[in-house]
Amino acid sequence: MSENEKSHEIWERSKKVFPGGVNSPVRAYQSVGREPIAIRSGKGAYITDEDGNNYLDFVNSWGPLILGHSDPDVVVSITKQAALGTSFGAVTKYECDLGELIINNIPHVESVRFVNSGTEAVMSALRLARGYTERDKIIKFEGCYHGHHDSMLVKAGSGLLTFSDDISESSSPGIPQSFSDNTIVLPLDDNDALTKAFATLGNEIAAVIIEPLPANSGLLIQRKEFLQKIQELTAKHGSLFIMDEVINGFRLGFSGFAGKYGFIPDLVTYGKIIGGGLPVGAFGGKKEIMKHLSPEGKVYQAGTLSGNPLAMAAGTTVLKKLLNEDIYTKLNRLSNELGEKFDSRVKPALVGKSFSIDLVREESIFWLNIHANGNENEIRQVTQIWDKAPEIYAQIFRYMLQEGVHIAPSAYEVGFLSYAMESKDILTYIETLIEVIGTID
Ligand code: PLP
Repeated sequence: MSENEKSHEIWERSKKVFPGGVNSPVRAYQSVGREPIAIRSGKGAYITDEDGNNYLDFVNSWGPLILGHSDPDVVVSITKQAALGTSFGAVTKYECDLGELIINNIPHVESVRFVNSGTEAVMSALRLARGYTERDKIIKFEGCYHGHHDSMLVKAGSGLLTFSDDISESSSPGIPQSFSDNTIVLPLDDNDALTKAFATLGNEIAAVIIEPLPANSGLLIQRKEFLQKIQELTAKHGSLFIMDEVINGFRLGFSGFAGKYGFIPDLVTYGKIIGGGLPVGAFGGKKEIMKHLSPEGKVYQAGTLSGNPLAMAAGTTVLKKLLNEDIYTKLNRLSNELGEKFDSRVKPALVGKSFSIDLVREESIFWLNIHANGNENEIRQVTQIWDKAPEIYAQIFRYMLQEGVHIAPSAYEVGFLSYAMESKDILTYIETLIEVIGTID
């Protein structure tokens, strides 16, 4: 690969302007021990940095780009909309277009409201849950990340986990104790802890929120019985069941995790894919609950740029393609190819090493679970992640980047396949991974 001279110059500028050089922490590459590359453009399955190096991209902007970079239809829709106006702060047809696509195709979303990020979606859904139930406490699970607003930054995944020294203590300073007092954090996959929490505090719990496929502390696939237990206990105690589908929504099929496995959450939160690469979030669910939002109800929630026409246009184009074209079939085929090649080619390359790797995947989301050799257990809790995994992952990351394969700059972050990828791209990933495994003992 060629040099990263221009990326270096931009990084030097960035460090003078932004705290830690970035506008979102994991971008700083701190946990993988090298300087970030500065991205100039993206097309299909590839991104290009400022020095002109191309990389096969498995980050896809952390999930939104299910069609790959600069999908031609998305580009046309944004361009057309820009000529008509970029923001009105008023009722538009464009927000109806996207809203109707959602409520007409996702049975558990009877009413929806658009916001500008996944963080905002969760923050607003929790406020609505509290306003609706007239209760304060929220149950969340260790390792699940629900955005960066105050009450959810307790034992959270994503960047908090990436930068924490102790895996069980990934919380942020700056959160008043009185906020976190109302956040009850339970381990994932623990029916007893959940049952106990409801037995002691049942009538104070406004909602239980979970990433049904936790994807911010690796990919911790949960037993469906555990999620059913949440559904059962919330219904019994008059609490709301909130599924955070910011990652899963429109990725595990159009109706996300809930649709795929037949759950009926009271509220659901979306982000990432729903905006087609522009900043959008949404929350929705039962009409009976949603009608408590202002101006119909008393729970206040608002946004100058909410339902922004450009973002609505991009989101509508992507969601229409997901509904009308065979996107998921191809993504699943690629995912299966990745799984098959991992088993037949990567696994043998790991024999005799001090570590091993399992490929954990569901549909087009995947994660490398690096663990001690001989410890092949499926893991469902964040504390089961091997403490040496980040060190080995950092070596994998640096090698792959140098060879033109861009994976997430953190051992705890997942990878995303895109519709723009082909079988040859899966092969490139596998072959580069085998090469780097050969360099690590
Ligand atoms: N919820 C989940 C499950 C997420 O993965 C994220 C972000 O990664 C968020 C909420 C927050 O979304 P945003 O980064 O758009 O604020």
